[in-house]
Amino acid sequence: MNVYFDNAATTKMSQVALDAMIPCLETVYANASSLHTPGQKSKEVLEKAREEIAACIGAQPNEIYFTSGGSEADNQAIVSAAKWGARRNKKHIISTTFEHHAVLHTLQKLEKEGYEVTYLDVHENGIVQPEEVAAAIRPDTCLVTIMYANNEIGSIQPIAEIGAVCKEKGVYFHTDAVQAVGHLSINVKEQNIDMMSASAHKFHGPKGVGFLYARKGILLSNIIEGGAQERGKRAGTENIPAIVGMAAALKNVLAHQEENAAKMTALRDRLIDGLLTIPHSKLNGDRTKRLPGNVNFCFEGIEGESLLLMLDMKGIAASSGSACTSGSLDPSHVLLAIGLPHEVAHGSLRLSLSEYNTQEEVDYVLEELPKIVTYLRNMSPVWDELEKGEKKHVI
Ligand SMILES: *Cc1c(COP(=O)(O)O)cnc(C)c1O
Repeated sequence: MNVYFDNAATTKMSQVALDAMIPCLETVYANASSLHTPGQKSKEVLEKAREEIAACIGAQPNEIYFTSGGSEADNQAIVSAAKWGARRNKKHIISTTFEHHAVLHTLQKLEKEGYEVTYLDVHENGIVQPEEVAAAIRPDTCLVTIMYANNEIGSIQPIAEIGAVCKEKGVYFHTDAVQAVGHLSINVKEQNIDMMSASAHKFHGPKGVGFLYARKGILLSNIIEGGAQERGKRAGTENIPAIVGMAAALKNVLAHQEENAAKMTALRDRLIDGLLTIPHSKLNGDRTKRLPGNVNFCFEGIEGESLLLMLDMKGIAASSGSACTSGSLDPSHVLLAIGLPHEVAHGSLRLSLSEYNTQEEVDYVLEELPKIVTYLRNMSPVWDELEKGEKKHVI
């Protein structure tokens, strides 16, 4: 059986998105900046997609800026707020220790340029409290950037409450919502979000396209200089077929959001309950305040990498954490952020589901995974030490 449980890394395109894109690739090729009729037709298609996407998150069309994906949107949001702050002598930013690298590396770059960043603790459950955000805000704070839902452990932040704190204190609030958009219902106005990043390939749209929502009145700075596309804020000829595919994918997942979430939550919980029966295993992240499709476990005495390879031989595609860090031997910064010791953080496994997965697939994984864990533990010198009592179990 082939099972794809790596939907947090990327998703398969939906048929709806493909059906929207293919004719568009064939016919809507004129440049949307051109004055001729085909160009104006492209412009119309582009603006219709913008309206549809805006409606999906409770925004106005002129608050949506198309980008190449989530990373670019994160970069642009943070750099824009930082530049705005610098002009007012506000060079302090608040974030968390477990953001995506698109956020963390942007912040690290700003630190080298003289900004100060407070990284809030995310605690064992991977959730920041709004009061902690309030306490960290200073007169020179220009931005709070906190992810909506974590890509590794799936924990969901109290975004509306954090947004309310920022609004009250007059500080910009950006959220990397790449894992949340299309999976949870979002309304940027009701949730007090000033800027929000999203990426199509995380909700069954195409890769290489995403958007930044920036509330009216926020002055964006360009990351990419050139033509006047996206109201002068993001140069480059628009990838209309991809944008159309993104809009179709988003409308489609949101039309089925409740039923998808119910289905995925049931599969997720079945998987979690089954895996918890493995001795010395631990679920990472909050048990309930987590994405419907996210399962993240540690198995003591096991290397995440070997687990992945053996699962792959059984046709199961999973991840040892974030796709961007796997391949390196460093344990995940997210698992370290929630307080796991290094040796345990190495043994993590992320299984991320989509609405296309089935109970048969979950049961297949529940049949194969415990056998692999036992096999690997029998070969592991660390497990041997634990069994002999030479080392203490941590989980
Ligand atoms: C995938 C992801 C990104 C990056 O999005 P791209 O479109 O691949 O650039 C950023 N943040 C989070 C939380 C993600 O899961």
